[in-house]
Amino acid sequence: MTALQARVRGVHQRLATAAAQAGRDPKDLTLIAVSKTQPAEAVATLAALGQRDFGENYLQEALDKQAALSALALQWHFIGALQSNKTRPVSEHFSWVHTIDRAKLAERLSAQRPKALGPLAVCVQVKLDPEPGKAGVAPDALAPLLDTIERLPGLRLAGLMTLPAPREGFEAQRASLARLTALAKALPETARVLSMGMSDDLEAAVAAGATHLRLGTALFGPRQPAGASP
Ligand SMILES: *Cc1c(COP(=O)(O)O)cnc(C)c1O
Repeated sequence: MTALQARVRGVHQRLATAAAQAGRDPKDLTLIAVSKTQPAEAVATLAALGQRDFGENYLQEALDKQAALSALALQWHFIGALQSNKTRPVSEHFSWVHTIDRAKLAERLSAQRPKALGPLAVCVQVKLDPEPGKAGVAPDALAPLLDTIERLPGLRLAGLMTLPAPREGFEAQRASLARLTALAKALPETARVLSMGMSDDLEAAVAAGATHLRLGTALFGPRQPAGASP
């Protein structure tokens, strides 16, 4: 078994155990492999093991990988910070965007979505903790943004996403993430995706109700240093 295979197996076991402990069906959990800074070969290897959903943060890096891997039927999720002058390639080349936090981004992504691809699935990023400089909409500003998205023909509102301030320990992590689960109750039945949980808090995320786990280092190992060529 390669190191990558061992890590993949370990992640699947962690997810299965977490689901069992939370009394949840593991089939309700979608694993998004976060492949930022990882080379296309690592994505291809993971795809050969059955992984289909991949998450990327950096647009140009993602487009290069998508071009290199276009023969594979992969589903790409944009999970990075998005500038409004970069929405077109995201709308044209991704199936999902998890980081919508303002109406302008939503409006541009909708207008630029090619009709043939069907609506772009989007999650609204919620900022649960008051961290300066952090992306995300404050909980009290969520409702008008959801209303805007629901009116946009090029988008399909899928649910909510968060990237909370790091916390130590299962219970503190679970309680933190459960705030997103509570907010999601106000969304329609068709928009109940909860994109939360990373390598360090996946058990807490499953316990809190996550549906889409975004895991990088647990699957791929340590990331390449920023700026290193893939
Ligand atoms: C990098 C990243 C992840 C994955 O983090 P790991 O700790 O490597 O699992 C998940 N979500 C977002 C938004 C990220 O930027």
